[in-house]
Amino acid sequence: MLANIELPSEAAAACAQGAAGVGLYRTEFLFLERGAAPDEDAQLEVYREVLRGAAPSPVVFRTFDLGGDKVPSGGAHRAAVGQNPALGLRALRLALRRPDLFRAQVRAILRAGAEGDARLLLPLVTNVEELRLARSIVESCARELEAEGRAHARVPLGAMVEVPAAALLVDRLAAEVDFLSVGTNDLVQYTLAVDRCDPDVASLADPLDPAVLALLRIVAAGAGEREITMCGDMAADPLALPVVLGIGFRRLSVPLASLPFVAEGVRRLDGASLAALAADAARASSAAEVRALVRERLSGVLGSLWTEQGIDGR
Ligand code: PEP
Ligand code: MG
Repeated sequence: MLANIELPSEAAAACAQGAAGVGLYRTEFLFLERGAAPDEDAQLEVYREVLRGAAPSPVVFRTFDLGGDKVPSGGAHRAAVGQNPALGLRALRLALRRPDLFRAQVRAILRAGAEGDARLLLPLVTNVEELRLARSIVESCARELEAEGRAHARVPLGAMVEVPAAALLVDRLAAEVDFLSVGTNDLVQYTLAVDRCDPDVASLADPLDPAVLALLRIVAAGAGEREITMCGDMAADPLALPVVLGIGFRRLSVPLASLPFVAEGVRRLDGASLAALAADAARASSAAEVRALVRERLSGVLGSLWTEQGIDGR
């Protein structure tokens, strides 16, 4: 169990609460809170602080996921917003279009990596080509730091699986990275065509939709031996947790506030029976059917936890 964080100070808090490290540090918050993109040295200082907070545990630095719903208020890094920002110049697409911003961040992460267990995660990877392009930039930054004689580390490189295209071809992505991380928040948005920021349709963004479960089964199988973490909110959804475990996910990165609940849920569940639950859930016709199935099979085990989480009436 790892933690998702947005602020540097949360790293130490997460590890103090039993997280085995930071599974997702959303670095874009550093960009969003300032008027302009922080330069390499400013980022280095913050990244070192995060690594110190988590030490000796690892920190997964997710490179900036700007654009989409996360648009800074001004400055040179302001992303152009099209009619469908979630389908536009966002995350890795923006990074590849703005190598100046991307290189400064990658250099800061590699330099921070000299002083702790840092890993670099690319958001919104859609195909192998952009992954290779990003990797070549990371390698070029490492060579540059070498030539400059600056301390740095060659850190593990990972890809987020949060676009259906990436989920379907996850075996091909797995062959090109050191680790994978499943972002269910975006995977649900893109699979079900539901804008995650639109309150009018938010209730339709259901991670237990059998279409989402079908993709997650493909991802779990296709990842093979590659280390894979689930870092989307689904891992901390009280009714989804047993299904997530049943599909085969064993590394979960969850919001700080969910750490105690997820730890207790995992402790109570019997892994062996969950594979059958996940298989039956994947054959259901609707999210409502999946929920009914989970309640029927597990209310004896998880019922009191669900009540504590206030979800009885759902
Ligand atoms: C996700 O999409 O599930 C995810 C973890 O990333 P974010 O919520 O920051 O888009
Ligand atoms: Mg995402």
